[in-house]
Amino acid sequence: MILILSANTDRNGAEFRQLMTHLEHLPNIQSRIHQETGTKQTLTEIYLIGDTLVLNEAEMSVLPCVERVVRVSEEYRVLGRHKGDNRPTSFEYNGLRFGQDTLHVFAGLCAVDTPEHVERMLKALQENGQVCTRMGAYKPRTNPYSFQGHGKKCLPYVFELAGKYGIKCIAMEVTHEAHIMEIKAALEQTGNPTGIMLQIGTRNTQNFELLKFTGRQHEFPVLLKRGFGITLEESLNAAEYLASEGNRMVIFGLRGMKTNMGDPHRNFVDFAHVPVIKRLTRMPVCIDPSHSVGARTRNPDGILDLMHVTAQGIVAGANRVLVDFHPEPSKALVDGPQALLMKELPYFLEDIRIAREAYEKRVKLAQANA
Ligand code: PEP
Ligand code: MN
Repeated sequence: MILILSANTDRNGAEFRQLMTHLEHLPNIQSRIHQETGTKQTLTEIYLIGDTLVLNEAEMSVLPCVERVVRVSEEYRVLGRHKGDNRPTSFEYNGLRFGQDTLHVFAGLCAVDTPEHVERMLKALQENGQVCTRMGAYKPRTNPYSFQGHGKKCLPYVFELAGKYGIKCIAMEVTHEAHIMEIKAALEQTGNPTGIMLQIGTRNTQNFELLKFTGRQHEFPVLLKRGFGITLEESLNAAEYLASEGNRMVIFGLRGMKTNMGDPHRNFVDFAHVPVIKRLTRMPVCIDPSHSVGARTRNPDGILDLMHVTAQGIVAGANRVLVDFHPEPSKALVDGPQALLMKELPYFLEDIRIAREAYEKRVKLAQANA
């Protein structure tokens, strides 16, 4: 059960103390307080865990400070959508709003290699009106002898260049809690020129200790990628780990599944699940066409598979696209074969715009026919 308190409830006030004393006396019930401070108001929610079936909704709703009571019947207590639940489906970070109704493109380098390539990428993004990017510094690789990413060494120049080109949010994968500390330190050292969205990759979707640590920090939002060989339910539970530790700025990423049936692509593209995640949870949904398709295969209609699947995800309502670009793919240290080219950036953005417009028209059509 979730108690949603009136906005700006004072946690030091007498009424709040009265409420907490009442909750402490409920048998076999533990409560966990979650507070979210936005630009306009502070929202407080209390999660009641344990024998909540015996609690009476009407009685709970008249307790001091309580505005509304939501009975959580399904899984994903924090991130799920529940009956009568109108909690937000968006969050703000560094001046940007990420929601189930917004769309952001995170085009960039799969792996940071040289400052020159980083700068060429960021400059192109700025010229095309983009304020988000992806830059991999810590790369989990299948082969231990493959390039593992430049790690903390590259962070200062990546952050400074991002600031120079007006980037507000960089998606950066972390595979260990130490990486989060290194990112924090490098941001401070460079004067916080940009923002970071931590990325938990498909190989770490169920790394529960990493999830708990990442959830306990509330500074950076998190993109959690679906595990490539587990059920959707298991991946959504992994997202819930982040939120249950207090960080609800979570975006769920689809990046394809490992199955032989996906043979023509690196992974079996799963973007049909975009609306499903939006229905089950309050998370914005990201698609990653690069790691799904894995190649620059072009079709008889002249369109790359990469662009076909991106459009499919957008037409289904995706909120974010994470995509590999590279100024010189033949020199890329990771995933060159799937990188889009700098000159394709305006074309890619225009193709996305067309797909988004189609999605918006489809929503209007559905409303008119409801
Ligand atoms: C990536 O985005 O660079 C990446 C490694 O993705 P995934 O975890 O989906 O393989
Ligand atoms: Mn990659």
